[in-house]
Amino acid sequence: MTEITILGTGMAGLGAAHCAREENVKSVMYEKNDHPGGHTASWTSPDGFVFDEGPHISFTQDERIQSILADSIEGDVEQFSAYVNNRWQDQWIKHPAQCNLYGLPVDLVTRILSDFTAAQYTEPGAINNYADWLVASYGKTFAETFPMEYGLRYHTTTADNMSTDWLGPRLYRPAIEEILRGALTSDTDDVHYISEFRYPTHGGFGGFLKKLLAGLEVNLSHRLVGVNTGTKQLAFANGKQAGYEHLVSSIPLPELVPMIEGVPGHVKAAAAKLACTTCVTVNIGVAREGISPAHWTYFYDRDYIFTRLSFPDMFSSHCTPEGCSSVQAEIYYSKKYKPVDRSPEECIEPVIKDLQRCGLLREDDDIVFKDSRLIEYANIIFDLDRKEALDIVHGYLQEIGIHCAGRYGTWGYHWTDESFKSGESAIKTILG
Ligand SMILES: Cc1cc2nc3c(=O)[nH]c(=O)nc-3n(C[C@H](O)[C@H](O)[C@H](O)COP(=O)(O)OP(=O)(O)OC[C@H]3O[C@@H](n4cnc5c(N)ncnc54)[C@H](O)[C@@H]3O)c2cc1C
Repeated sequence: MTEITILGTGMAGLGAAHCAREENVKSVMYEKNDHPGGHTASWTSPDGFVFDEGPHISFTQDERIQSILADSIEGDVEQFSAYVNNRWQDQWIKHPAQCNLYGLPVDLVTRILSDFTAAQYTEPGAINNYADWLVASYGKTFAETFPMEYGLRYHTTTADNMSTDWLGPRLYRPAIEEILRGALTSDTDDVHYISEFRYPTHGGFGGFLKKLLAGLEVNLSHRLVGVNTGTKQLAFANGKQAGYEHLVSSIPLPELVPMIEGVPGHVKAAAAKLACTTCVTVNIGVAREGISPAHWTYFYDRDYIFTRLSFPDMFSSHCTPEGCSSVQAEIYYSKKYKPVDRSPEECIEPVIKDLQRCGLLREDDDIVFKDSRLIEYANIIFDLDRKEALDIVHGYLQEIGIHCAGRYGTWGYHWTDESFKSGESAIKTILG
């Protein structure tokens, strides 16, 4: 009887466990935290504010995944059209900015339109990086004013140090008519790549995990510290040991690789080159309803401490006590490009000040809850070192029979649905 060992209980681990169950194969899971769910866990403050570890919504187009999630909570799901906006130099701009230039300084709009038009009729040169792609797609002025500025704040490195293999549908490329219309009127279509999304009515995004976790053998508070692929033994920080037959890991590669006994130096060095962002979230509860009309907002200006805000009360009214609103701010750092320069607690007051500066909070607002947390592994940085380093690491892990899954096992730009499916794929590979 085959048994599969799964490291991590996030979406990738749960996808693997779900698939194993469907295939009537036993799985056993190990998780370092004292709760399951990884990034998709949610928590509730003593007075009833619900926050996700980082803001999470489900925008999967895959109907199979939609129904797995909905079934997990017996259909207790909210479904929305997303309203997203941007904050740029004291103005609110509907998202995406390239289709909503109306009201911006006339000189800037003129240069954007002129560059954009020229870019459409010019044969692009070689696209060697994300910066080249942005200029070829939108023209220099828009590229430098908007996506390059936002990208630096979100990815923590410059666009000329990034590849383009993560883009997919993430950046909308409008037709010239859409740009012109958006420059002449505020009456524009909604074209964000996330148009509709789902979110549990109760319990935050973590609510989706309810039935997925039921009946699984999950060993919490088991932080893996050593792997011997020769003897097929795992060692945990709590002193326990366990054998395994087949191994699926969703542990971040830069942590997993150094734990492997006998790992060659060049593989260790390659794993150390893999970069990702670290995110501080600041979570605020306010005794006033409706502080924002948007579900989330992107901030472009460097003098704002946060890069993105989201508003959990807009996802479900059950995320706040009655008469209240909430906001979750994301501040990005990375070990490689922008090391953390203050503690999460030290981020709280600057966030409140900036929320007041942009008018989302009033001076006399009653802030009834405040908290901050660190997400060590946030977004993978697709810098120019990534591909070569990743090929070395994945080649080695394949050789020694460790099956990688999830955002930090594949080291890809995976959303929850893709992480779940990568866990399923790992099981299918094992079962042949
Ligand atoms: C700020 C933010 C916002 C996001 N928003 C969205 C969104 O709106 N929609 C969406 O679809 N996706 C979103 N994502 C992406 C989403 O979080 C991921 O795709 C998904 O959660 C990754 O799942 P995973 O299982 O691969 O990783 P994780 O959830 O990180 O799971 C890995 C697990 O391994 C455990 N682990 C790590 N080290 C060890 C160890 N040594 N021993 C044992 N266990 C260990 C961790 O504790 C964790 O439980 C967002 C991500 C971030 C960072």
